[in-house]
Amino acid sequence: MPSKPITEAAVALAATGLLAGGCAYAALYPPSQLFGKVLVAPVNPNEIALTYDDGPNPAATERLLEVLAHHKVSATFFLIGGFVRQRPDLARAIAAAGHLIGNHTMTHPWLAWQSAARIREELAGCNAAIEDALGAPIRYFRPPHGARRPYVLRTARELGLTTVQWNVTCFDWEAPPPDTILGHAVRGITRNRQRNRASNVLLHDGGQHGLGQPRMATVEATDQLITRYKQAGAKFVTVDAWA
Ligand SMILES: [Zn+2]
Repeated sequence: MPSKPITEAAVALAATGLLAGGCAYAALYPPSQLFGKVLVAPVNPNEIALTYDDGPNPAATERLLEVLAHHKVSATFFLIGGFVRQRPDLARAIAAAGHLIGNHTMTHPWLAWQSAARIREELAGCNAAIEDALGAPIRYFRPPHGARRPYVLRTARELGLTTVQWNVTCFDWEAPPPDTILGHAVRGITRNRQRNRASNVLLHDGGQHGLGQPRMATVEATDQLITRYKQAGAKFVTVDAWA
């Protein structure tokens, strides 16, 4: 998840001298394919994938599972391996409810400028944490903050992971009111529909700084979003439907 706006992060990146201009775009703009192929969303304006990053997170994840079950909607969860080690029961509850689980690294670093060894450790460590909890292999990966460089994508591929970005940002990591989160979602989904694209919606049931982050506004926004788009005839899918 981005902890600050993409533009601000891009400026910070450029300032470090590590990346500049088009490279910052390639490293940070979520749907950019310049550093390698990433899964975003296909041509199909009627489909929506709700994706939740930075969990598992007690209370918020549990309440979210209730809301999704109520609406009979499956979602995709990109989990932080360190949190899965602390709460493997929550990872199992997500899987048991039929949702898709993906890798969001072990400790949520900016991978674009980590060493090759650290990148591999973050991805393989998270795979191991989730697979220990679930007893099933993990096939999808979302880089923290959407930040990557070619080595990140190559390492993911070597570990059997498809890298997934997004095309709707809801800016929910600062816990604004549900209406604000919903407003961002609706604007993004409307724009995608106009372009004949499905929507891959970035949301957060957890937070990178630890368990217990306040995410009930995201849960409430989810409830409203599903109600609104189900009435409009949208189909909710998990990202493996697009692989
Ligand atoms: Zn994240």
